[in-house]
Amino acid sequence: MRPSRAVLNFTHKCAMSCDWCYVPFGTPPPTLVMVNRIISRIAELGFNSITIGGGDPFQYPFISDALRHANSSGLFVHVDTNGRNLRQSATNLSLIEEAVDLIGLPLEGSKSQIHGQMRNSPNHFDLVCRRVKWLSKLRDRLKINTVVSALNANNMLELGELMKIIAPARWSLYQYWPLGPAIRAATKHSINDSEFAECTSILTATTKNSNFTLEINNRESRRESYPIIHHDGKIFVHRAFPFSEFTSLGNIFDSNALHLINSTCSGERPQTISRYSTRKQNAMI
Ligand code: SF4
Repeated sequence: MRPSRAVLNFTHKCAMSCDWCYVPFGTPPPTLVMVNRIISRIAELGFNSITIGGGDPFQYPFISDALRHANSSGLFVHVDTNGRNLRQSATNLSLIEEAVDLIGLPLEGSKSQIHGQMRNSPNHFDLVCRRVKWLSKLRDRLKINTVVSALNANNMLELGELMKIIAPARWSLYQYWPLGPAIRAATKHSINDSEFAECTSILTATTKNSNFTLEINNRESRRESYPIIHHDGKIFVHRAFPFSEFTSLGNIFDSNALHLINSTCSGERPQTISRYSTRKQNAMI
């Protein structure tokens, strides 16, 4: 199966400094012209969905144009943000309503202290809660992302209770993965496969009748599944071995880019297929 989704990551900078961030920052700033060319190329190569992330995409004033371009290119538009630059304005709410199919915000703990420890940011929990409240009328496209590590694993039950109140469309759990720069946090955050499986299987039981989809992503499931394209056009995938590195696949504008992607990436993992078959595709039926 060929991948139907491409990730576009801004690798310039981020205002936060999460220890376990896998994005290798330091690329020169992005331009709208280049970002829109990459989006057009992703659509031209036959991808159905795009996930836009990296350092907060909303830190760039041009992001509204890029999101609208992705939407009008026929892509299912998923954007992940830490929320810091996502101002609670009527303009941004309209933008999301018009051009974004799925918006991801992070929560790593049920309380400010745990989330703040995970994100190295004491006030970020309150900010995310404000953004969640502001987006309440768009809950059908809200996704909460949680990195699960040794530091917050024993808070998952309480976080599950908070999810029942927030009621996002989807709650995605990600096993901490010492990928790329994230390896610096291995001592603090490593959680082995059986510990991750144990804490997430309890959640499967306790959130069974909740009004959100629980999505569990262990480290293995994400390897070599989709291309990650940096805002300068370079393509990377998570490497199967060694598991902490990326494989470079050249540039999205190379004539053999699609061939390399299709021969390296296995496609969407089973637990995420339903993420990208919601609002836009339903509207087209
Ligand atoms: S995980 Fe997200 S918020 Fe944290 S440093 Fe990386 S891009 Fe920024």
